[in-house]
Amino acid sequence: MYNQLIKICPNTLEKVSFRSLTTFKIGGIARYVCYPSSVDELTNLVMFCKEQKIDTFVLGGGSNILADDTGFLGVVICTKRLNEIALLSPCRVRAQAGAMMSALAHFCKTHGLSGAENLCGIPGTIGGAIVMNAGAFGGEIAKIVESVTYFENGKVETKKKSQLFFDYRKSIFTNRPNCVILSVVLRLKKSTPEFVQENLLRFITQRQASQNVGMPSAGSIFKKVNHESAAVYIQNCGLKGAKLGDAMVSNEHAGFIINTGRATSKQVLSLIEKIKQEVKLKYGVELEVEIVVL
Ligand SMILES: Cc1cc2nc3c(=O)[nH]c(=O)nc-3n(C[C@H](O)[C@H](O)[C@H](O)COP(=O)(O)OP(=O)(O)OC[C@H]3O[C@@H](n4cnc5c(N)ncnc54)[C@H](O)[C@@H]3O)c2cc1C
Repeated sequence: MYNQLIKICPNTLEKVSFRSLTTFKIGGIARYVCYPSSVDELTNLVMFCKEQKIDTFVLGGGSNILADDTGFLGVVICTKRLNEIALLSPCRVRAQAGAMMSALAHFCKTHGLSGAENLCGIPGTIGGAIVMNAGAFGGEIAKIVESVTYFENGKVETKKKSQLFFDYRKSIFTNRPNCVILSVVLRLKKSTPEFVQENLLRFITQRQASQNVGMPSAGSIFKKVNHESAAVYIQNCGLKGAKLGDAMVSNEHAGFIINTGRATSKQVLSLIEKIKQEVKLKYGVELEVEIVVL
């Protein structure tokens, strides 16, 4: 199988730990990880896996994922090499799915384009951001999306924003594992590099003040409830610092679970359950997990 995969995608690795593939640094072994460097390679790979009935998982930056300790026997398709960003017209940018949000922010700054500054500190790819409708500081990526091009059922399709049904931390791509986002067109506002840089600094400073957990994590574990951060409920239950093995509720940001060493997915999932139970008991509130459990 490895020989067949490298014929389609030369950048294929065997037996890679999810510890090195995710920001949580948790999880077992991924049997194969492919890094296609062209859309053709990616689509051929998806078609090959479909024909061979091999499970696939699309990975962006791995910043919103808790991978299981038992690993994944199929093919992980990582988009990170599909990372071109280009100016289409004075206010429109096309980014391939694997472009990092930080690279997008840098590109926008260089071209004096404003609108994505609040998203610059999200440690993932633009593809992952679309799936999750990532957001920060009151703004979501949906706000600047014009269209998304994706591959599904052997066809490349493009949909306009109005057809993507963005909502809080979801889009039509959420829970749609056989669909791969290829690229995104964003519409921004003409500004100056100086103005964009000023905004970037402001958002980075705010992020460092509120999220500087400094340990492996997957960001916020739970979605907001009634427009309130889940961290508020968790903190008020006295759960900051609560620990199960090496999985711990961050002392800096109660919405984050951090991996303090060799945490397992089992420990994280048990800690999630404990948090849910305590918040439900004290506030009658049902917390909903935001991260993707693989
Ligand atoms: C320190 C830290 C801070 C964070 N802060 C924020 C924040 O402020 N706001 C926020 O919203 N999130 C935040 N996150 C969570 C995370 O960074 C975002 O959800 C991000 O958008 C995920 O992107 P990714 O490329 O890492 O996706 P991944 O984690 O790799 O994948 C997430 C999901 O998207 C799917 N996916 C990824 N790429 C594609 C593609 N091309 N096609 C189809 N499916 C795909 C995956 O299969 C998976 O289901 C934070 C995480 C960390 C670790």
